[in-house]
Amino acid sequence: MKLIFLGPPGAGKGTQAQRLSEKYHIAQISTGDMLRAEVQSGSEIGLKAKKIMEAGSLFPDDLMVKMIKQRIEKDDCKYGFILDGFPRNVDQAKALDQMFAEQHLKLDAVLLLEVDEKRLADRISNRFSCAKCGASYNKQFKKPKKEGVCDVCGSTELVFRSDDNKDTVLERLRVYREQTAPLLPYYKEKKCLYPINGMKSVDAVTKDIDLILKKIKM
Ligand code: AMP
Repeated sequence: MKLIFLGPPGAGKGTQAQRLSEKYHIAQISTGDMLRAEVQSGSEIGLKAKKIMEAGSLFPDDLMVKMIKQRIEKDDCKYGFILDGFPRNVDQAKALDQMFAEQHLKLDAVLLLEVDEKRLADRISNRFSCAKCGASYNKQFKKPKKEGVCDVCGSTELVFRSDDNKDTVLERLRVYREQTAPLLPYYKEKKCLYPINGMKSVDAVTKDIDLILKKIKM
């Protein structure tokens, strides 16, 4: 199963991708997480990515495409993967099409999480995650069972993303509308775009996704 998640920042792509990855035992590939790991490691790519991410802009296509190409060739992608945060523009989508053609892979579905943009700033400013295992939380909707402690791995390193501040979020939304939204007609034309109401509860969205996946019989 090969899936793509689309939707603006804060739509819930990461949360749903994580659930699908656990349920179907397929790899979750988050380009944002890959770049954050580079920043953490202090690599050359990380230094470049830090500035770009803090500005809310997009990392260069050629480097991003190269990272994805290497990632989907890894063993854990053998039975499928979920792309969360890639492609981010039409050029990246075309590069992905080429990768799929070269490796004889078939894209099963593009899941679009539709949300009310006015509510996104709130969602984003409330979210945080575990620095150790990546589990995601929200101050309003999904608090850890014990305050300050990750439910999954027990770490007390719960962190907010530095690009989740108001100014950067506005720029990320602008970039989404300008560069990522053109992917909607792109995939609609390929007849693989499935819109989902992302304003429902996390569990309800998961159910809707399951129904879609059953319908397209994977
Ligand atoms: P995300 O975690 O998906 O919200 O991504 C965080 C940031 O990483 C974005 O605002 C971009 O700066 C960068 N980024 C993530 N994925 C991509 C991509 N496919 N192309 C370019 N930049 C990306």
